[in-house]
Amino acid sequence: MAELEDLYILHRLDQATDSDVLIANFGEKIEVVVTSNGVGFSRELLDRLPNLKLVSSQGVGTDGLCVEACKARGVHVANTPDVLNDDVADMALMLLLATVRRLLPGDRWVRGGHWVRDGMMPLNRCVRGKRLGIAGLGRIGKAIAHRAEAFGLDIAYYGRREQPEVDYPWYDDLQALAEDVDILVVALPGGEPTHRLVGRSVLEALGPDGYLVNIGRGSVVDEPDLVEVLSSGMLAGAGLDVFADEPNVPQALLDMDNVVLQPHCASGTEETRHAMAQLVVDNVAAYFSGSPLLTPV
Ligand code: NAP
Repeated sequence: MAELEDLYILHRLDQATDSDVLIANFGEKIEVVVTSNGVGFSRELLDRLPNLKLVSSQGVGTDGLCVEACKARGVHVANTPDVLNDDVADMALMLLLATVRRLLPGDRWVRGGHWVRDGMMPLNRCVRGKRLGIAGLGRIGKAIAHRAEAFGLDIAYYGRREQPEVDYPWYDDLQALAEDVDILVVALPGGEPTHRLVGRSVLEALGPDGYLVNIGRGSVVDEPDLVEVLSSGMLAGAGLDVFADEPNVPQALLDMDNVVLQPHCASGTEETRHAMAQLVVDNVAAYFSGSPLLTPV
């Protein structure tokens, strides 16, 4: 924000007491919008900015932005891919390990005095040698695979197309992948095409010894189905950074001992958020200097 404030005239919708008045007064002057995928950019707002040329958004996801409508009007869209791959992949592995190895129950075992009173906690499961399915082997999915190899996991992936440069087996059917793996990590984007792709049939295919990790989007998983299979023991556990209706998480998940929950913070390190913010600013600078955008959508 400091860099933007130095270089440009800003009209702060996020600080406006009446956003309608701000848009009515300045909407025609706005050339660039800076936002994030979480805050979003709607078709309705696009329609009120007749001279808009660029939406520079923080985050790699674009499901919160009206990308197609922008493109149809010749408005460029930029996001912040790649700089967050490592942190998000770290979160995926952290959730995977924490869920399968029961990190939080172990922590509670110590804090709650069970170690002293009851001795060792029950055994948990080994990660090495397990089969890992990655739904969405894109930039983040590949960073997850790279890490998972070091943990001795056997990798396969699901996507719309086979990637010839990748050695892992490809599945064009998510349920078939789920049947063949022990752990499914979702690294898919949100939006209509992936909405509730991971429903009961996929979760049941993972089975009572199976685990789900989701760092992609909450909308990709059918949350009521997930609650049901976890409650009934049809799935062993889940590690979740994203949810269907953030920041609201179903009480049933909050009460479960076999799930690990994070507040959509996979890219939430100081270093990565700084790199993402810099990319947002650099895309704005590229536009104003007439250079190609660094990371166009
Ligand atoms: P990416 O490089 O575009 O990878 C997305 C992958 O998903 C691609 O391999 C693509 O493969 C597959 N895919 C896309 N649409 C699909 C569909 N309809 N059906 C099946 N597969 C589909 O994106 P990325 O940079 O890895 O980011 C992935 C997602 O991670 C983001 O969109 C965002 O939602 C999420 N994310 C979450 C956090 C967090 O904090 N939790 C942070 C960053 C990103 P094909 O094209 O071959 O199908």
